[in-house]
Amino acid sequence: MYVQLKNWAKKIVPNQWLRKHEGFLRGLIALQYKGKTYQCNVCGYALRAFIELEDKGKLCPNCGSLARTRYLWQFLLDAIGLKDKVVLHFSPPKKISQRLKRSGVKEYVTTDFENEFTADKQLNIEEIDERDAVYDLIICFHVLEHIENDRKAMAELYRILKPGGRCLVQTPFKEGAIYEDADISTPEARLKHFGQEDHVRVYSVNGLEQRLQSVGFKVTRHTNTAAATNFHGFPKQLTLLIAEK
Ligand SMILES: [Zn+2]
Repeated sequence: MYVQLKNWAKKIVPNQWLRKHEGFLRGLIALQYKGKTYQCNVCGYALRAFIELEDKGKLCPNCGSLARTRYLWQFLLDAIGLKDKVVLHFSPPKKISQRLKRSGVKEYVTTDFENEFTADKQLNIEEIDERDAVYDLIICFHVLEHIENDRKAMAELYRILKPGGRCLVQTPFKEGAIYEDADISTPEARLKHFGQEDHVRVYSVNGLEQRLQSVGFKVTRHTNTAAATNFHGFPKQLTLLIAEK
């Protein structure tokens, strides 16, 4: 119901208008979910339930954060640390972006090539307009599966990281090998084969890890399984890769 409503709203009103009034619209919806059983760790809203999405798990009605975004925020706080870091964030969801900005980072830069998210820059990940070795931390969640020349993108991420800097990478995953085929190029075929109209492949964890290693990264895996109570509505299971220069 929620998703249908959102898709319908996107059709009849301009994106700009939706962005401007998003807070008010969400506030109305969030009231119906107010409670004490769960809490969104990104916006702090207390909930009786998260909105259950068909494919993406639990959505916060108040800030719109997805399960993976809430987990990313927790992981940044607990395992990575943000203080005094120079951070680049690709296609950042709004609320986590606001929190990151005020988290004690030295500098926080946001970028979105397709202009779907509010961002400071419109960097082309295959040819990043930044000097070498400027970032301590790059967040690249659900981006590489959209990029045709992903090896070039990975090499660019490596180039702009400081030595010892880390890039957090996450995409949808499958078992086995990476599935990609340059001949599958129409939106319909991509939806059928790769799960979304603008995806150009489906990675496996192994495949993505090896590809990141091939451009020079040292890669470690992190897998989380949500606790039974799942107070913050994290993904049931999530694997992310930490690629270090
Ligand atoms: Zn929230």
